[in-house]
Amino acid sequence: MEKRRIYLASPTMNGSERGYIEEAFATNWIAPLGPNVNEFEKELAAYVGITHAAALTSGTAAIHLALKAIGIRQGDIVFCSSLTFSATCNPIIYEGGIPVFIDSENDSWNMDPEALRKAFGKYPNAKAVLLVHLYGTPAKLKEIMDICKEYKVPLIEDAAESLGATYHGKQTGTFGSFGIYSFNGNKIITTSGGGMLVSKDGAAIEKARFWATQAREKEIHYEHKEIGYNYRMSNIVAGIGRGQLLSLDEFIEQKKSIYDTYKKAFEDIKDITMNPIPKQCEANYWLSCITLNKDSKVKPLDIMMALEEENIESRPIWKPMHLQPVFKEYDFIAKSEVFGTAEDIFNRGVCLPSDIKNTGEDMKKIIGIIRALFNC
Ligand SMILES: *Cc1c(COP(=O)(O)O)cnc(C)c1O
Repeated sequence: MEKRRIYLASPTMNGSERGYIEEAFATNWIAPLGPNVNEFEKELAAYVGITHAAALTSGTAAIHLALKAIGIRQGDIVFCSSLTFSATCNPIIYEGGIPVFIDSENDSWNMDPEALRKAFGKYPNAKAVLLVHLYGTPAKLKEIMDICKEYKVPLIEDAAESLGATYHGKQTGTFGSFGIYSFNGNKIITTSGGGMLVSKDGAAIEKARFWATQAREKEIHYEHKEIGYNYRMSNIVAGIGRGQLLSLDEFIEQKKSIYDTYKKAFEDIKDITMNPIPKQCEANYWLSCITLNKDSKVKPLDIMMALEEENIESRPIWKPMHLQPVFKEYDFIAKSEVFGTAEDIFNRGVCLPSDIKNTGEDMKKIIGIIRALFNC
């Protein structure tokens, strides 16, 4: 018999999503927009503690509209975390901007404030900072916000992976001028696909909604003064989101328990280190990751292959953007001229299966396979 696959992170439905969808069917609010969209925006904004939110088709669309709202144009430099998914920086290119990639630090794996300061030294006219809270762990927000204030540059937080995570008790995504969340299939909550743009600036969110609905002017006929996009979330999709949001706290607890289980299980193996979570924050533990010591005989690929043999999904750490062929012409700034932290984490890291539906048995099996590679 084919073994049941153990996933990295797959959708976990709680059942309540159907109620919202059925209501949409019953009232024929299949499209456009509708009450689920409005309510999902309000409920998510209330959850993270911000005043305004726009529900969109994806997290990528949310990043795109955040850059537009800030006014990024042809030739503008945007400082962007290098250790991330390409969706973070692609929208900079959509607007004709120039990404300059910033290295990571070792305490949270996120944007290194020292490297960011160095980047401002080299490019004092940069127009925005776009940082990521990778794998659900908040970046060094205080240090980075201080630098942004000093240079009077707006901050965009890509909190696609970190919904529910807090820094000094405040939700990621609510510190910068704009924050974005993703409800893609493998994120901590999912709508099958979707995203949210949040801000304290109500007028900016209103403008984002306007761009997201084809930039239709308020006329009876179709009047257009700007280029628009078809980026708005549907009422069906938003219904799934409303149901999912009810489980977010529980999901974070379950993800934390997965992280704690791995941490305990590998405590005695000196070659394995869990992804670091700084004291000043509460992560959402979206993915549990490990790095292997440089001289470890077991390599990340050995772990991924051994797991795959048992039909268990794992994956490499994101390959840094400054190492991607498509972005090779753009600059990269690191604290050190000779050593890149993001590249080092990529070379030594693995994302372990972190699916909320992993049973105790699944966890034992995964841990057993990895321990066996270290002869433990
Ligand atoms: C998933 C993800 C995105 C993109 O979100 P989509 O909803 O898939 O467009 C952006 N940034 C990061 C860091 C992500 O993990």
